[in-house]
Amino acid sequence: MLETDGLFPGYQLLSWLPDETFFSLISRHHQLWGHVTAAQSSQLVFGSSRGGSHHDLPNSLGIFVQRTNAVFGEADYIARERTLLKFYSAFVSKAETDNAIACMSSASVAHLKLRLGILTSRFRANHPLKACPHCIRQDLRETGWAYWHLKHQFPGVWMCTTHQQPLLQSCLKANGVERFRWLLPHLSELNPVNTKSDSASSDSVLLGLSELVEHLVWSKTDQPLQLGKLHEVYRQELQNRGWIAGAVSLRPAQIAAAFLDYCEPLRCIPEFAALAEDKASMGQQLSRLLRPPRSGTHPLRHLLLIHWLFGDAPNFDRAIRLLIPIQN
Ligand SMILES: [Zn+2]
Repeated sequence: MLETDGLFPGYQLLSWLPDETFFSLISRHHQLWGHVTAAQSSQLVFGSSRGGSHHDLPNSLGIFVQRTNAVFGEADYIARERTLLKFYSAFVSKAETDNAIACMSSASVAHLKLRLGILTSRFRANHPLKACPHCIRQDLRETGWAYWHLKHQFPGVWMCTTHQQPLLQSCLKANGVERFRWLLPHLSELNPVNTKSDSASSDSVLLGLSELVEHLVWSKTDQPLQLGKLHEVYRQELQNRGWIAGAVSLRPAQIAAAFLDYCEPLRCIPEFAALAEDKASMGQQLSRLLRPPRSGTHPLRHLLLIHWLFGDAPNFDRAIRLLIPIQN
């Protein structure tokens, strides 16, 4: 007999809200149940005082599904559709996604970030919680809850594409003390990320990038992007511009300078701090992306290059389609 039977008679269960993360769902229950400590809620739904509380790639989904009788879906659905695995699964092989789901179903997600290529990059691996102030007000009005949207949590997304407004960032899950807390977005606990006064140009680039990320993540769910082939798409585009000829880079300094220009307005966001700041290092980063990849490159590097070279998702999709015979 499942342990679920009789476990929740005194505990009301909620339903998923649109585009809600798993962390948000549990945080709403934590608030609804009025528990004083995070550990009480964790113990109840995960059977351990610190289970499941990673807000990006949580563990213990298997025990959660068992204890809730799968009323919120199976672990496979929760991991794929309600956590940041949604983002990463668009860029890794199906086998790697399956491995991630197995990890997240178990009691430990140790090494998972390493396997997904998140820790091997210089991009920050802690995935700050983000929210749109307009969504918060709208959600409160329409659902009675302010909650975390999955699309806002994707790396590279710093604008709400619905309201075309900058996202605010929470610092609460980033430090040690608060790591195991359940929390929902409150305006008083969220801070602007870009504090520069001339933010208009940054906002425009960030909005375009956010739209591209969302489009790619949602459209590549069933068929991940083949990162191993992307350098061919990039090279073709650079060749169309007359910047390279076959394997020869004709104007490496010009390419690096143009990409540096593109990156400039993004530097207000700490997530992009790993981007090279001079032509020589940018040239090195670019040459790695223009060759067949040797090991996991963080998807953000590709997303930035795709945004710079193709501007938007339809242009990029067209370029990919031209190479379909190669991909097959
Ligand atoms: Zn919004």
